Amino acid sequence: MKHITNHLPTAELQALDAAHHMHPFTADAELAKKGARVITSASGVTLTDSEGNQILDGMAGLWCVNVGYGREELARVAARQMKELAFYNTFFQTTHVPAIALAARLAELAPGDLNHVFYAGSGSEANDTNIRLVRRYWEVKGHPKKDIIISRHNAYHGSTMGGGSLGGMAGIHAQGGLPIPNIVHIGQPHWYSEGGDMTPDEFGLMRARELEAKIEELGVDRVAAFIGEPIQGAGGVIVPPATYWPEIERICRKYGILLIADEVITGFGRTGNWFGSQTLGFQPDIMTVAKGLSSGYIPIGGSIVSDEIANTVGGAGDFNHGYTYCGHPVAAAVALENLRIIEEDGLIDHVRDVAGPYLEKKLEKLAEHPLVGETKLVGLMGSIALTPHKESRAKFASEEGTVGYRCRERCFANNLVMRHVGDRMVFSPPLIIQPSDIDVMIERALKSLDETYSEIKADGLLKAA
Ligand SMILES: *Cc1c(COP(=O)(O)O)cnc(C)c1O
Repeated sequence: MKHITNHLPTAELQALDAAHHMHPFTADAELAKKGARVITSASGVTLTDSEGNQILDGMAGLWCVNVGYGREELARVAARQMKELAFYNTFFQTTHVPAIALAARLAELAPGDLNHVFYAGSGSEANDTNIRLVRRYWEVKGHPKKDIIISRHNAYHGSTMGGGSLGGMAGIHAQGGLPIPNIVHIGQPHWYSEGGDMTPDEFGLMRARELEAKIEELGVDRVAAFIGEPIQGAGGVIVPPATYWPEIERICRKYGILLIADEVITGFGRTGNWFGSQTLGFQPDIMTVAKGLSSGYIPIGGSIVSDEIANTVGGAGDFNHGYTYCGHPVAAAVALENLRIIEEDGLIDHVRDVAGPYLEKKLEKLAEHPLVGETKLVGLMGSIALTPHKESRAKFASEEGTVGYRCRERCFANNLVMRHVGDRMVFSPPLIIQPSDIDVMIERALKSLDETYSEIKADGLLKAA
């Protein structure tokens, strides 16, 4: 197959896809029966598929296309950089302009003394780096036994051996012997599902204090770091109660353990600030970044690291870690241009002052729908809990995710991409989304909710557990 185009019949593309392409997080045999949806092009917030459908992308791809699709500037920068210097590595005492410029820009944007960037090709890789980095840090400090990293159940930190271990996804841990040793998990700050009769603030404190209890249990001489997403993304857009992060930060400082904020989704404007930790009000020692760093136009990730960690690790001889594509010049150039667009287009103000508040108003209406238990939104990342019984926040009697999956399928049929995490619908549209697009998004979401409601009622699924 020398050349393949968008113009082949959909069925032919699907057959080749089924024959040769293994999809991530997918049951390939089942997908082969119905055929994958083929996306052929995209512009702004709109995807086009091989059947000519125009689909509003309420997920910004996979939480990443912050500046929207089809930006000529990014294509131009990539082409120029490929011609000038397509590749050079940053091992062996060499560097190049794109890696330098992007690191300097990230140091400027990142809060506090996070002034040093270790590049990776993805969020997963960056989190693998973080594991090695914090363990190395404590080793250099003379505490080689401080190697345990504490994370949360239902966290998502990627799907490599390290990233998948840091994450708290049961489905990932169940395959291939994860988590790796010395990564442990505490409860998540998910008040809606797990808060019972407590107020959200009480529950947030309670869950944060599980960190303190875990440190005490393991011994502070064993604990290297805590890692968390400021707002859990793949876990269902779980916005922690306001009490949670300040208490986590207090505990990390009290015991002197490192605080890693996984900003892979929450970075680069998603929450109405450059970084989610600013929105949630805490200062990390390391931030993981990827996704919105390049708006998904090209793979790149990294760890943005404090002076203290960078100077300690860098001052102790070789750090024996790196990827061929660390600071890849084309990726770095595209990321830098992407950051320029975010700034010059005023996208962060747009999220905080225009699109976010507009969507919030619309969600207040949507929350009255009989199938909706709650809606959550921070900036432009949100979720809709589906429930058979609003008042009690009840789960469905059917297996978790049954209703959410049906709702997602209804959304797709109505030309809207929303994902489901169990029976929670999640969305994170491109940051360029305008009020008129939000009207369309909400209209399609409401139609899909109505259809899901009728469908599950007819099928006897509108039952509380
Ligand atoms: C997507 C994601 C990752 C993993 O990033 P990849 O680029 O897919 O490896 C890590 N952390 C969070 C919070 C993510 O959402």
